[in-house]
Amino acid sequence: MIPFNKPYLTGKETSYIEDAVKSGKISGNGKYTKLCQAFFEDRYRIKKALLTTSCTDALEMAAILIDLKEGDEVIMPSYTFVSTANAFVLRGAKIIFADSLPNHPNMDASKLEALITPKTKAIVPVHYAGVACDMDEIMQLATKYNLYVIEDAAQAIDNYYVSKTGEKKALGSIGHLAAFSFHETKNIISGEGGLLAINDEKFSNRAEIIWEKGTNRSAFFRGEVDKYGWVDVGSSFLPSEIIAAFLWAQLENLDTIQARRKEIWNTYYNTLQSWASQNNIDLPWLPDYATNNAHMFYLVCKDLNQRTALIEQLKTHNIMAVFHYISLHTSPFYNGKHDGRALANTDHFSDCLVRLPLFYELNEKEVLDKIILD
Ligand SMILES: *Cc1c(COP(=O)(O)O)cnc(C)c1O
Repeated sequence: MIPFNKPYLTGKETSYIEDAVKSGKISGNGKYTKLCQAFFEDRYRIKKALLTTSCTDALEMAAILIDLKEGDEVIMPSYTFVSTANAFVLRGAKIIFADSLPNHPNMDASKLEALITPKTKAIVPVHYAGVACDMDEIMQLATKYNLYVIEDAAQAIDNYYVSKTGEKKALGSIGHLAAFSFHETKNIISGEGGLLAINDEKFSNRAEIIWEKGTNRSAFFRGEVDKYGWVDVGSSFLPSEIIAAFLWAQLENLDTIQARRKEIWNTYYNTLQSWASQNNIDLPWLPDYATNNAHMFYLVCKDLNQRTALIEQLKTHNIMAVFHYISLHTSPFYNGKHDGRALANTDHFSDCLVRLPLFYELNEKEVLDKIILD
């Protein structure tokens, strides 16, 4: 059986964990946490990075930081993971779901302005498959209407937005805040894990307090205050050094991991061209402002029947291909709360998108043979 995903280990994970354990410092914010955070700050020009126990937690921190009030509105795509919405729903926000682009699951930035009301507080672009949303357009809207932008960069590590002037900006470094994931299904993993990127420095101090359970403990350890105590709300968002040690082994090998994933992605893309067009299947599309981090390789079938048949065909050959999000606006939890607007593009991806296996040790030729020769 070829699984849909298989976590890749670089070989250094357990020795770094052993080092962390032997150092006697296994709670959070030690040597490995600092190495991982500095990696993000230096390589991606993020002002301040804080490791979290998940991307979900990083999004929850962002929702606390922007001081969401009951009834505030947050705009995001409907084609996303539940955590994107839950983080804001937990603070009493109303979610305004935006439709996807016709040819990509990302939110259609040209349709967002019509969704903004006096209650709108934030826009949450999700870089689906790691592919950039139209960040210049979204940031311009945010400036015009005084909104926060929180990037859900869960899938977007090591990927870039290229603005019209040619400037390349790392995803996760553009919005006021951004959240990354190191869940075992992502490119760079720590089992469970995440990171909050803070790009608007006005959030830096408070983010650290919320991260440290509502205390000014970090400032205390830097010698900035002479005692520490309860100064704000907060929670236990900081992962242990054991997680950070694992993550560091992955980050050190990021270029190798990315190169292999891109090789698989390109082989899929090039090999499937004529088969896809013969069968009316769309291959992934990249806007000209986006680079590719090979987080995911998906196909968009012409309808639900074709997708069901393709998944079945691959299953009979012991290959796991899987569909993805069920639109959140039609979910049992949010269905009755959605304002009733039809989101046709979102529904299309819910019905027609299928993801192929993509992991470091995959034999992609084996998968391709079973797709094309059948
Ligand atoms: C994986 C993912 C998340 C959640 O990440 P966790 O680290 O598992 O909390 C959130 N949003 C998107 C778009 C994701 O792909």
